[in-house]
Amino acid sequence: MKAIIILGDGMADEAVDELGGRTPLQYAHTPCMDKLAALGRNGLLKTIPNGFHPGSEVANIAILGYDLNRVFEGRGVLEAASMGVDLQPGDMAMRCNLVCIDNGLMRSHTSGHISTAEGADIINFLNENLGTEAIRFYPGVSYRHLIVVKGGDKRLICTPPHDVPMHPVSPLMVRPDHPHATKSAELLNNLILHSQEILPNHPVNKLRQSEGKLIANSIWPWSPGYRPDMQSMHQLYGTSSGAVISAVDLIRGIGVYAGLENIPVEGATGLYNTNYEGKAQAAIKALSIYDFIYLHIEAPDEAGHEGNVSLKIQTIEDLDRRLLSPIADAVLNSPTPIALAVLPDHPTPCAIKTHTAQPVPFLIYKPGEQSDDVMQFSEVDAITGSYGIIEGNQFIKYLIN
Ligand SMILES: [Zn+2]
Repeated sequence: MKAIIILGDGMADEAVDELGGRTPLQYAHTPCMDKLAALGRNGLLKTIPNGFHPGSEVANIAILGYDLNRVFEGRGVLEAASMGVDLQPGDMAMRCNLVCIDNGLMRSHTSGHISTAEGADIINFLNENLGTEAIRFYPGVSYRHLIVVKGGDKRLICTPPHDVPMHPVSPLMVRPDHPHATKSAELLNNLILHSQEILPNHPVNKLRQSEGKLIANSIWPWSPGYRPDMQSMHQLYGTSSGAVISAVDLIRGIGVYAGLENIPVEGATGLYNTNYEGKAQAAIKALSIYDFIYLHIEAPDEAGHEGNVSLKIQTIEDLDRRLLSPIADAVLNSPTPIALAVLPDHPTPCAIKTHTAQPVPFLIYKPGEQSDDVMQFSEVDAITGSYGIIEGNQFIKYLIN
């Protein structure tokens, strides 16, 4: 049976006082989700395995049924894949932020949201000046770039720069987590210090400075990893073909390793203004071509990070009406059977503005399958669903088999 997953990033939440103790999912007007919950079966899925941080990369890999202990290599390698960088055995890839350090403090982990063109200029300049046979920088989007170190040892302690706003950076330099990684740590720290010598005078920074903007005066590498040992969805589950639709590099990178084709959609931004209708139409078209579709919507997570309850409700209602509804129509009227699942990857509760590791509600609709008694899609209703609480690859197996 063909299958489609519709994933609302960070859509799960907690009871909110101003909503009368309901969650945004309970409060939002979501007739389509509720109809599918009533027609299908429901449950809770543990998407963050013990010992892992509740990141989107972790949760989305887990939802596809991969064993995180085997395949997790951090964020850099996933972004590398979505950027088309083919990592070889022995290549260590890391996210390389362009950051602004001011008086020894981490002033901005985004260099004041430097533009993609400015970032590319600086990354190319770094390649000319600091690049070697073994060290290569790759330009990405805005402040988010990549560094690949041939023969690097990933056993390093690195600090994500967004976790340390206005912290002194000198105690946060790269440290070895194993004696064999000492050389890699030294190499990276030398690169950081070199970048701080040559970047302030770069024309892009001179111009930004004259315009009163923050400058990109340092690199900040973190999240080291090797090419993940991920089998494709085809190898694991026998799906003959699959595709991913997402505006987010991490998700597209997971798709590359999972053997899913990337379907770009014009106007897909990863924000509230994303092209919901375009993504829905792309998914419906893709269902006629592929066996398996992974459709990811980032907007609810962004609203959660802002702590904006009404915006989160709006993103959930937009997802329901503008995206899920046309897809559900296509699925329910399809002459060939199609299974459909709706779920978040993790909660991003507005009250705490960050991810948690709580299990998330999910629904699976399969044509011809007996429904359970759940009538509404929410964190609370899903507790009584007939799937119960599941983890590992149970979700994807239930959906695909
Ligand atoms: Zn997420």
